[in-house]
Amino acid sequence: MTSPRIVIIGGGIIGSLTARALCREGLTDVTVIERDPTYRFSSTALSAASIRTQFGCPVNVELSLYGAQFLKGVKAELGEDAEIDFVEGGYLILGDARTEAARREALAMQRGLGAMVEDFGPDACAAAFPWLSTDDIAIATLGRQNEGWFDAWSLLQAARRAAIAGEARFVQAEASGFITEGARITGVRADGAIHPCDWVINAAGPGSGAVARLLGIDLPVRPRKRTVFQFKAPLAGAGMPMLFDISGAWMRPEGDGFIGGIQPDEANDPDADGDFEPDHALFEDRLWPLLAARVPALEQLRLVRAWAGHYEMCLFDHNGVIGPHPDMANLVFATGFSGHGVMHAPGTARGVAEWIAHGHYRTIDLSPLGFGRIAANRPMPESAIY
Ligand SMILES: Cc1cc2nc3c(=O)[nH]c(=O)nc-3n(C[C@H](O)[C@H](O)[C@H](O)COP(=O)(O)OP(=O)(O)OC[C@H]3O[C@@H](n4cnc5c(N)ncnc54)[C@H](O)[C@@H]3O)c2cc1C
Repeated sequence: MTSPRIVIIGGGIIGSLTARALCREGLTDVTVIERDPTYRFSSTALSAASIRTQFGCPVNVELSLYGAQFLKGVKAELGEDAEIDFVEGGYLILGDARTEAARREALAMQRGLGAMVEDFGPDACAAAFPWLSTDDIAIATLGRQNEGWFDAWSLLQAARRAAIAGEARFVQAEASGFITEGARITGVRADGAIHPCDWVINAAGPGSGAVARLLGIDLPVRPRKRTVFQFKAPLAGAGMPMLFDISGAWMRPEGDGFIGGIQPDEANDPDADGDFEPDHALFEDRLWPLLAARVPALEQLRLVRAWAGHYEMCLFDHNGVIGPHPDMANLVFATGFSGHGVMHAPGTARGVAEWIAHGHYRTIDLSPLGFGRIAANRPMPESAIY
């Protein structure tokens, strides 16, 4: 039997891992159309490259557990030359009295699925993390396993190499149109060429809403700018977990200092097409004061640099959109991860490959993340977004 022709739009971590997963399923006629092989502005290259199992939706916990196993066994998955420096440092997520009940409910769900998350009351939290200010804390949770950070750039390069070794073709071009026959896509236009196809996968990250619009499909995924700040402080980062404050501010160790960030106010969060300028005011006005209130040692710090990347934000419910379009069945989405797409890339890639190879999911049931929920206007909100 000949392999179906599969065109993937976008060769970031989602597209590259999906190409490799398809090849592993024996589907080797895979073309990845990527407009910028330097990945300078890709979300993957600009991300904070961290993984947590603490989510509000069960399917996200499952994707993270799968992702963590993948990252820990990356050499077996992607080849002996894959070096991603995974640090299993954990996420310490703080909560106040207002959110404690919901946090405990989520914790029970996470543990039920196999996540190794420990919880602390205020006194235990103060004793375990003496560098924290804990006055307003009602609950703190720490992932003891399967949470931490890694080198996303190296992961991307290893994924790409593995996909190419599996016979996937990477083409430098911009997908700019489609050829359709009835409710099927039969070709993808890119830089003057037509790539005939039996399947198309939209893995264009923050550009995936624009790709869907070429087909007249309203995919509610938009590019939203997020700035990461790198700083040094009189505080030893070694052994510290990634910290998520009640305010939404976050920080984690990086090299001999830290990185951190916070979402902008909703009113100050427009679509960010082409805008990669770090939002420096966010550091001075919000992030630094919030972090210094939580970690007093940060009253003195030195900002080293800042960079900005784009979340592929799913405005519908802040969750990924995975699987076929209800009316155009050979168009498959793998996008919309709203800040957690690197950690969920291995499970997403595997699921998409299973869907195409077998017509159903085998490893994780990804149907809760299907486009159908958007068509039916049934959001599945993710409470743990940062
Ligand atoms: C600041 C920041 C911090 C983050 N932190 C984390 C984190 O800690 N953990 C985590 O899991 N996730 C994090 N994320 C999110 C994560 O980076 C993304 O979810 C993930 O990288 C998405 O991967 P992707 O392959 O879909 O997108 P991308 O890496 O952006 O790849 C998409 C590719 O598609 C290409 N493309 C787009 N349109 C076209 C077209 N028309 N034709 C051809 N090519 C096209 C682009 O050039 C791009 O290379 C963060 C993101 C940002 C910005």
